[in-house]
Amino acid sequence: MKPEKLAYFKKILTNQLKELLDEAHKTLSGLTQEGKENVPDLADLATLETDQALLLRIRDRERKLISKIQEALKKIENGTYGICERCGKEIDEERLKARPVASYCAECKRKLEALEKLGKY
Ligand SMILES: [Zn+2]
Repeated sequence: MKPEKLAYFKKILTNQLKELLDEAHKTLSGLTQEGKENVPDLADLATLETDQALLLRIRDRERKLISKIQEALKKIENGTYGICERCGKEIDEERLKARPVASYCAECKRKLEALEKLGKY
């Protein structure tokens, strides 16, 4: 993937992550007042990741999304973003735009979902 595309997706993912963490902090407000009202920058995210108290208060669905976003951001860093984890092909860009955390191409995702329904995955 071209660097400018990567930058584009990185921005989307970073913003999404900030929003989610911001929401989490709002949920926390009143509970802790130790400078957590600020939206963290990326350097703080590693610390937040291990902040169990915070993570436990985030709803399950959001927690999963946060970890998916962090995974995607790591992939951007190590150059594997946008590559299907199953077949190794590039994931369609339109698909990534619709779902920036996608880790499988449309075809593999479809196959995996079919297998899941059969209870074989
Ligand atoms: Zn694939």
